[in-house]
Amino acid sequence: MAVRDPSTGSEVGRVIAATPGDVRMAVEAAQRAFPGWAALSPDERGAPLRRAHALVLERADDLARALTLEGGKPFDEAKDEVLWGAEFLLWYAEEARRPWGEILAGNGPNQRLYVHRRPRGVLACITPWNFPSSLVTRKVAPAVAGGNTVVLKPAEQTPLSAVLLFEIFDEAAFPPGVVNLVCGDPEPIGEVLTGAPQVRQISFTGSVEVGKLLLRRAAEGVKKVTLELGGHAPFVVFSDADLDLAAAKLAFSKFQNAGQTCIAANRVLVERGIADELGRLLSGLAATLRVGDGLEPGVTVGPLIDGRALAKVRDHVADAIGRDARLLCGGEAPSGLDPERFFAPTVLADVPADARVATEETFGPVAPLIPFDSDEEAVALANASEYGLAAYLFTRDLGRAHRVGEALDYGMVAVNDGALGWVQAPFGGIKGSGDGREGGRQGLEEYLDVQYLSLNF
Ligand code: NAP
Repeated sequence: MAVRDPSTGSEVGRVIAATPGDVRMAVEAAQRAFPGWAALSPDERGAPLRRAHALVLERADDLARALTLEGGKPFDEAKDEVLWGAEFLLWYAEEARRPWGEILAGNGPNQRLYVHRRPRGVLACITPWNFPSSLVTRKVAPAVAGGNTVVLKPAEQTPLSAVLLFEIFDEAAFPPGVVNLVCGDPEPIGEVLTGAPQVRQISFTGSVEVGKLLLRRAAEGVKKVTLELGGHAPFVVFSDADLDLAAAKLAFSKFQNAGQTCIAANRVLVERGIADELGRLLSGLAATLRVGDGLEPGVTVGPLIDGRALAKVRDHVADAIGRDARLLCGGEAPSGLDPERFFAPTVLADVPADARVATEETFGPVAPLIPFDSDEEAVALANASEYGLAAYLFTRDLGRAHRVGEALDYGMVAVNDGALGWVQAPFGGIKGSGDGREGGRQGLEEYLDVQYLSLNF
């Protein structure tokens, strides 16, 4: 299966496409490895994770280069992703020692109820192209730390990062069958993974559409499903905010990975009196970004992943302008770059709340500014979405941060910040953005069953 550079379209690698038979073999290998792996002590399970962490740090440049070649992300940003992804290996090597339990009172003097957690078995993990390195480690590390075994399928467009990571897992000496990688056609692979009786859980990150399909299929076998789906993050700026800070964090949240992140600010809700000033600051920052091939020094915004992604971005911008939004900057490919691959960081002002860019996940470098007049209106606009992944809020008023932050129907809310993916925090959404958490203590619990022993003596 050929892998292509989204900056040029040229082939940058090949991987072996798994047949359904290969996938079944991988599931069986994971099933065979499970009892032995689950029986190891937490410290023994942490050892290959710690070795893998060290190897990723040693090879961070090679991993970042592969990520840039297949995903388009600028090299420095790709390296940040690789290093962030490595943190999950180390964090869960330690977290393996902390599958918390509890002891409850019994119903008589000689009874106690011991609640503890145990590994679930074979897990199938499916990852998307937009974070092809860190989302692999964010699933695999907690899964194996908890004593489970894994079969992982990466996205077709970006399998090279996964292949390099699994080579590292091999060198880190995971016992055979504990971690397995299958690349290739998603439909037949997905069918085997959702249908195999040995697979006890599907952990999926990607689109709502595919998430729903997997959920329906998993229902047949009553498998647990973890879903990290799309987002439509509101970025709310009140007039009492530090505007320079808000603009800087917004530029990061909106334009990193060319806007192709699930927690990217998708709707900028700004108090009317400061909307022009925020638009001016953000356009100024957008002008300092350099679009191009991610391997070229100085490039800060890479290509979009493919022509379909680009067409959606163009449609959203045209739709907003057709509804009287004002284009402050961008709106097309920067001159000299292929308009079928690149799009300039774009800022739109006076965007009506029913424009497509304000109602759908854009997944591109477009910031629509939508004015509001009161806290109540900001909350109502922010919550008017089927998604519930991430939200951002900028204010200097602590009371407002509590009131508005807690009123937002989102799994994660950042106040005066533009980042949320901390290794120690439970990342995940509510409503149409899915169910389940990755990262933190909750990321380990996600892959463990609860059992209680009723002890009577
Ligand atoms: P996608 O099309 O759903 O693909 C995600 C993964 O599912 C890929 O590995 C894909 O394989 C696979 N897949 C597709 N059809 C399948 C099937 N029938 N059975 C089994 N697997 C199948 O999503 P995407 O376009 O790559 O990713 C973008 C979406 O992911 C956005 O909505 C974004 O918000 C979301 N996302 C969410 C998070 C989060 O943590 N919540 C993080 C990142 C991204 P192929 O690539 O081979 O088609």
